[in-house]
Amino acid sequence: MQYLKLESIKSKHPRLSKLIDELAAYIEGELDQGRSRVVPSLAARQLKLSEAETLGLLAMFEDAGLVSARYEVVCKKNNVVLATAHKRSELKDLLPIHCEFCEAEHEADDVSVELVFEIVPQAARDAVA
Ligand SMILES: [Zn+2]
Repeated sequence: MQYLKLESIKSKHPRLSKLIDELAAYIEGELDQGRSRVVPSLAARQLKLSEAETLGLLAMFEDAGLVSARYEVVCKKNNVVLATAHKRSELKDLLPIHCEFCEAEHEADDVSVELVFEIVPQAARDAVA
């Protein structure tokens, strides 16, 4: 059933068929290594695509319910995720945010925001199976 999702993405974007397969294989590899999210910059490097192209592909996967975008608020100093939000508009409500690693309240200048795609495990597994 979920396999049809991958096919339906391809039927909408036939020229991208090969890239869609490559991204699906990448996601499967991440799951195999116990990772639950796709970082666009890392996926882009692996697939030898630009980050913009990778984001475009991930958006298609998101439309199909295979991945789900989220924003991570990362402490710049310690490079740890302090919070996540599903909408960019929710981010400002999170600040200031307490960081237990720095024992401090962080404002916007102290954190970076990273867009990542959470893998919807069963949907993604079935899609590439
Ligand atoms: Zn911190």
